[in-house]
Amino acid sequence: MAEQPRPKKAQSESKSLKEQLWDPVAGFGVTFRTMFKKVVTEQYPFEKEPTAPRFHGRHQLNRWPDGLEKCIGCELCAWACPADAIYVEGASNHDGPTDDADSGRFSPGERYGRVYQINYLRCILCGLCIEACPTRALTMTNEYELADDNRADLIYEKSDLLAPLLPGMASPPHAMHEGFDEGDYYRGGLGGVTPAAPSAPSSTGGES
Ligand code: SF4
Ligand code: SF4
Repeated sequence: MAEQPRPKKAQSESKSLKEQLWDPVAGFGVTFRTMFKKVVTEQYPFEKEPTAPRFHGRHQLNRWPDGLEKCIGCELCAWACPADAIYVEGASNHDGPTDDADSGRFSPGERYGRVYQINYLRCILCGLCIEACPTRALTMTNEYELADDNRADLIYEKSDLLAPLLPGMASPPHAMHEGFDEGDYYRGGLGGVTPAAPSAPSSTGGES
């Protein structure tokens, strides 16, 4: 038969007088030592500390210096994602006038990402998708405040992920820079040049 634990009273009586005096002093000693240490508690959300520079936060779909999108709709990011959090539908670019708002030239080359979604209910912010992207269209920002009060708003659409337009950039669809082909874009020949804007954008921001 298992031995029964001794009652508390019996345990305390078995403590020596030295132990009975020293234990509280040792316990409060931890409290007093901590009182004079530097406070490390962060007062989030009232005071926000910057993240590490390479922190993996919300994704961003980047643009070329003229505002065209870097995404070519290849789906490599979606295939690389271990959480199946990315959905991409590619489509063909078209040059020349068009009546359809979803038609025209959105990126240099043949294809662009017509639909782009990231489901932040699934995403584990591992960064494998940005490693897979061949055009550096997809990168991650330091933004970490991704909580919301409903599931639908945590599926980010292309419009939520696209980098804002810098001054001088034009919102696609529009033609490639005059005299340039897609190779010039990928070789970095575009530099900081910006084409005449077909429809002048108003928002600002940066591309990484
Ligand atoms: S960060 Fe990781 S989990 Fe999130 S979309 Fe990219 S590959 Fe998928
Ligand atoms: S973000 Fe990059 S990998 Fe994903 S579809 Fe666009 S170009 Fe391809």
